[in-house]
Amino acid sequence: MNVPMLDLTEQYDALKSEIHNKLEEVMTSSQFILGPNVKILEQSLAAYSNAEDGIGVASGSDALHLSLLAAGVEEGDEVILPAFTFFATAGAVARIGAVPKFVDIEPEGYNIDPDEIEEVISVRTKAIIPVHLYGQTADMDSILKTASKYNIAVIEDAAQAIGAEYKGKKSGEFGDTCCFSFFPTKNLGAYGDAGMVVTNNDDLAEKIKVLRVHGSKPKYHHHVLGYNSRLDEIQAAVLNVKNKYLETWNDKRQEKAAIYDELLKEYNILEVIPPKVFGDRRHVFHQYTIRAEQRDDLQTYLKEQGVSSMIYYPIPLHLQPVFSDLGYEEGDLPVTEQACKEVLSLPMFPELTEEQQRYVIHQISNFYKNN
Ligand SMILES: *Cc1c(COP(=O)(O)O)cnc(C)c1O
Repeated sequence: MNVPMLDLTEQYDALKSEIHNKLEEVMTSSQFILGPNVKILEQSLAAYSNAEDGIGVASGSDALHLSLLAAGVEEGDEVILPAFTFFATAGAVARIGAVPKFVDIEPEGYNIDPDEIEEVISVRTKAIIPVHLYGQTADMDSILKTASKYNIAVIEDAAQAIGAEYKGKKSGEFGDTCCFSFFPTKNLGAYGDAGMVVTNNDDLAEKIKVLRVHGSKPKYHHHVLGYNSRLDEIQAAVLNVKNKYLETWNDKRQEKAAIYDELLKEYNILEVIPPKVFGDRRHVFHQYTIRAEQRDDLQTYLKEQGVSSMIYYPIPLHLQPVFSDLGYEEGDLPVTEQACKEVLSLPMFPELTEEQQRYVIHQISNFYKNN
């Protein structure tokens, strides 16, 4: 049997006629950039996140970049973030010339350790970026408490966590801004690059709206240096169709995760630690990530058996060559470094079948029987 990490074809087949109709509408209208579809998506995702405003941008990376600029982060300022995340989180900081201050994660949830944030705060700290990794939010109460104590902006990286909840509130309700990615593999995926910022802060919303169109306001008058970072109508049309199913898909991901949990128990695989879901959170399982002994050998074995798996992420950001001038060394963030050696994400998507899941766990069990 072959079990892919992710298979988008079934979803496409189910939505084909709906999507094709919408795409035809866009092409017939000949309005391709920041039109009615973008507006609808912005309004519905803002409402979904209990935020006032949504601002469609070109990607999740740009959502972070423009959020930082709007929050007033400048060259030489410091921004606190976890080292255990996708590169884009730190890339957005470094692109401005600001300095990423990497913080360790807590071992069970894989998110920034709130107890370590205060230690790296300095007079130059302008923002904290909590990343809701794998689809579960960071410990927002502690983070917001520290941020307000020092008057630091909070920018949520919710690229993997649209629909995630913390104490009954949605990701998007906590930070000054919250950033979503619609990269095709995310829980709500476009057919290309796309992203959005949601916010309850009018001033930040206005700034980001100007920054995404070359800093132009009114048109052809430029008071700030902006970018070309717009969301196009084709992507927004696709996303508006898919958005109707987001809740169902997130529920399905949770069901698949529960099935994996049960299968791991049934096979009694002691070498594997399943993901921890905190009682006060809704985990939307962008990834189902285990910690595994002999992780690399396990991954090779699974591949031979037709089971795909991925390592998110093999190298922590503080040890990436591009950041070598920041002076971090191996051992600086031990919990992060350990996670990089042990995590393995298993196939996860709403259409995954129970038969496929059983096969995955059966093969993991076989590996440990023979090793
Ligand atoms: C995907 C992702 C991003 C970047 O989003 P893009 O739309 O690909 O630019 C940022 N942060 C995290 C944690 C992500 O997973």
